Amino acid sequence: MNPKKDNWNESDKQKWLAKQTFQRSYKDQVLSRIERLKRVGGAVKVKNYGRLSLQNRESLRISEISLSTDDYSDRYPLYYAEVGDITNGKPNIIVTGGTHGYEESGVYGALEFLEKDASRKVDKFNFLVFPCISPFAYEVNQRWTHDAWDPNRSFDRSKPYVPEAQLVMDVVEEAHSRAGCDFCATVDLHETPDRDKVLMPLQYQRYGIEMSADDILIPNGYYLIAHSANQSKGMARHIIDKVKQVTPIAPDKEIQGDKNNDGVIVLAEDSVTHQGLNQSFMKTKADNSFTTEIYPEIHPEPRGSQEAIAAQRTTILGILDFLENQ
Ligand SMILES: [Zn+2]
Repeated sequence: MNPKKDNWNESDKQKWLAKQTFQRSYKDQVLSRIERLKRVGGAVKVKNYGRLSLQNRESLRISEISLSTDDYSDRYPLYYAEVGDITNGKPNIIVTGGTHGYEESGVYGALEFLEKDASRKVDKFNFLVFPCISPFAYEVNQRWTHDAWDPNRSFDRSKPYVPEAQLVMDVVEEAHSRAGCDFCATVDLHETPDRDKVLMPLQYQRYGIEMSADDILIPNGYYLIAHSANQSKGMARHIIDKVKQVTPIAPDKEIQGDKNNDGVIVLAEDSVTHQGLNQSFMKTKADNSFTTEIYPEIHPEPRGSQEAIAAQRTTILGILDFLENQ
């Protein structure tokens, strides 16, 4: 069986959608903070980057709420923040959160970075920050878009039906040509929570790859996936040195088949299950690209979530600290 062939049809998607419920509010938990950033202004400029639509569906019914395509577009306005002037020659950094909507510390880590750090670092850097790439998935606490696509397998131009990824690519490509140089570093903020034992087999099985919960390792700690062609060789190690002061590093020798070098994984880029990653697209425009993976269940709540957010923010600050001191 061709492992890339999608075995799901519309009826499989409808069955999956029927099980979804709203569990968080994009408006209350994300847009309210973006609105506050807009009001504060200063170096942080909030920009809309397009509208999501229901595409081939006329309406969507979730948690007894029926959304028309206009309701859907209005519910999920897309925003990123541009901090500083990306044409001024200072290092440009990209941060993306919520590529997987259920991995909430990525969303909150990106927002905290904007609220607490971006303005005070703008004398040395410029930033593009996308706090919540996949807002429907954020609200239903899932990995996929409303049309059951994984945004983190859709960062290539063969997937026009996943605008959550395509619209980010549009912004990044435009910014790259405006800046006239590669971005210095990019980081995509993720988690590997216990629920991946349920969610990941589903994703693999859909593409004809047999996988059970027992095949999915949930590392007990943080790890960082570094692109194999990253230019700043000490950057990943420096990030780990900073992050291990706020959360434990994954002790496993191997993670999903890749060697764990004390918290740093160099991803096998040729794997068919890894095509279309955010990190891989970003690397085409950047010297260095990373993906964080955090284990929020390492402590009971609320400590686990708070530590996960701190680890996301520390990752971004670790990149800046490395660049300031090299
Ligand atoms: Zn993820």
